[in-house]
Amino acid sequence: MRCPTCGELMDCRRETYQYTGAGLDNVFLTDAQVCHCACGESMVGLPALPALHQRIGELLVAKPSLLTGPEIRFLRKNLRLNGQELAHWLGVDRATIYRWESGAQTVGKAHDRLLRLIYAAVKRMPTEHVIESFQGIEPRQKPAPPFEIPAGNGMIASLAS
Ligand SMILES: [Zn+2]
Repeated sequence: MRCPTCGELMDCRRETYQYTGAGLDNVFLTDAQVCHCACGESMVGLPALPALHQRIGELLVAKPSLLTGPEIRFLRKNLRLNGQELAHWLGVDRATIYRWESGAQTVGKAHDRLLRLIYAAVKRMPTEHVIESFQGIEPRQKPAPPFEIPAGNGMIASLAS
């Protein structure tokens, strides 16, 4: 493809691309089209973001250990809730949401499960599968395994540099 900045042909290849737009460090888009230009411009083919973010949410809901702060923040934002709204839904204080998301406090087992169920219900996921997976959740926070998601042939986004 042509570089949108200088018009020259870009050097494109298929590679695994770490997607950080979700605020998580374990999301990898496999077989993504990544293009570089001699002028310094870079472009990457991303899937449609609503579908990508919902897929990340589904993987988080099935995560076999307690949700971490960035994961809770991602689920909250993907539900389009502010901290006060999520606090209301979970029956806690706004400050508790902040402490979970900042890592100052570990989310409890019950609130972790309730957040997953709320996410599944709002996103119309089959909640019985979510409940079945609860028995496999380790009662401590661990990094999620790498989420490898096919990049597909989506739109090309410019990599901010
Ligand atoms: Zn260029």
